[in-house]
Amino acid sequence: MTQRIAIIGAGPSGLAQLRAFQSAADKGIEIPEIVCYEKQDDWGGLWNYSWRTGLDAHGEPVHGSMYRYLWSNGPKECLEFADYSFEEHFGRPIASYPPRAVLFDYIKGRVEKAGVRKYIRFGCPVRQVTFDDASQQFTVSVHDQSLDLVTSEEFDHVIVASGHFSTPNVPEFPGFSSFNGRILHAHDFRDALEFKGKDLLLLGSSYSAEDIGSQCYKYGARSITTSYRTAPMGFKWPDNWEEKPLLVKVDRDTAYFSDGSHKRVDAIILCTGYLHHFPFLEESLRLKTANRMWPLGLYKGVVWEENPRLFYLGMQDQWYTFNMFDAQAWWVRDAVLGTQTLPAKAAMQADSQAWREREETLDSDEAMIVFQGDYVKSLISETDYPSFDIDGVNRTFLEWEHHKHENIMTFRDHGYRSLMTGTQAPRHHTPWLEAMDDSLEAYLAQPVEAETPLDEESATQATTTPLAS
Ligand code: FAD
Ligand code: NAP
Repeated sequence: MTQRIAIIGAGPSGLAQLRAFQSAADKGIEIPEIVCYEKQDDWGGLWNYSWRTGLDAHGEPVHGSMYRYLWSNGPKECLEFADYSFEEHFGRPIASYPPRAVLFDYIKGRVEKAGVRKYIRFGCPVRQVTFDDASQQFTVSVHDQSLDLVTSEEFDHVIVASGHFSTPNVPEFPGFSSFNGRILHAHDFRDALEFKGKDLLLLGSSYSAEDIGSQCYKYGARSITTSYRTAPMGFKWPDNWEEKPLLVKVDRDTAYFSDGSHKRVDAIILCTGYLHHFPFLEESLRLKTANRMWPLGLYKGVVWEENPRLFYLGMQDQWYTFNMFDAQAWWVRDAVLGTQTLPAKAAMQADSQAWREREETLDSDEAMIVFQGDYVKSLISETDYPSFDIDGVNRTFLEWEHHKHENIMTFRDHGYRSLMTGTQAPRHHTPWLEAMDDSLEAYLAQPVEAETPLDEESATQATTTPLAS
């Protein structure tokens, strides 16, 4: 009998899974019956922007954590699909740090070409997943919002691709309840213009703090203060941006820090990360982890060791993104098809433990990048996903880091060479700090002319670069 599989979520990870199966079908391989449940009305996951915050039109928690004016925070060359290049999608080379709408368009392009939308049931949040030992079947209960009907179906495999940057981690600090201004989590941040002319405090020292602070600086905040728990971000910030150690308390409109200093602020944004949250999974199936490079319990980073009929995609902290989700999806596909054999539980756990032990030795960004690159390599070497130059991607990540430390406000003006096509990205027509319109039309509007790149290395590369017509 044909196997049935359920995929939960049609973000980049769930779409990678659909594309992986479709690629096998194209080669004449018989694939299972697939149902992908997506709670939103469209695909793309976080890249499908929503102005909404809190609850959606159906009373469902809003998934989106992205905001207006969000541009890729890493080079697009590091996330490029090996089977669908940016050049193929846009018909010409484009610059290295596209805004959200451009990346959304790229993600959609591949799956539109693959024709996999037919597998997705939109407006269908999964409410519950249980497993029956006797039948070896999962029961998946789903709320079809258009019919307001909850129904259940049986599946041989479930693939959880519901993301983990959506349920906010919201700590409380003394004095919050009597703070005079607005307190929000990064998950609910939508528009930097709301904070124009304001003194802002951001808690956290990771990507959200860096990027939301940068957006607010760009769109006219009066001052930015970031407060760290473990370590400062340590970039060369503009004059009106300072880093403070941890917030101790707030008294009406004043924030007090652990070094004894204080600052009057108008609003507080908690850039304090997200929770892995799977309220729809029964206890025996539920991954419990912090945001880290090697969550335990997942063989090859994807197979639920307690029940290898269940898979997770994209649950690691992410340097690599789209092409790592692909590597995972291709591997999971082969495990479902039975061409990838799984060892006994003890061997799976020992393999995971070895990755975890290596993860615990990682003491620099570079070490983490190489670690995740090695993980992607190991998956790809066992599938027919097109192999690509992962050492080259690692090098591009390191260049990116270097450019950020050179100048956190201009790193997005650099361009890198595609590891898939070999083409050097042209420089964008407008420096990021001056590019206020983040629409796809504005980004693609002007033909890119040869310009002097920011650094000598890219200058050398650019001389051989085909430029857009
Ligand atoms: P998601 O994109 O979160 O998609 C999960 C999908 O599952 C969603 O469509 C959701 O609606 C659906 N879903 C959830 N629960 C259910 C349910 N119960 N039933 C049915 N459907 C459900 N990565 C980069 O490479 N570059 C960037 O510049 C970048 N910027 C980011 C900016 C922000 C603010 C954040 C939060 C993340 C960013 N990321 C970035 C990382 C991001 O995690 C990945 O790019 C990618 O979106 C992860 O894909 P995913 O499919 O695993 O998860
Ligand atoms: P994150 O990387 O998990 O970082 C969470 C931060 O919150 C850490 O600095 C952590 O500090 C801090 N924190 C947690 N609890 C705290 C507490 N109780 N008190 C003080 N600080 C606390 O989460 P993130 O920054 O939201 O990033 C999530 C994802 O979004 C990343 O993949 C990132 O790439 C993506 N993102 C991308 C963009 C973009 O592309 N433009 C923008 C924003 C975010 P410790 O270091 O002490 O643990």
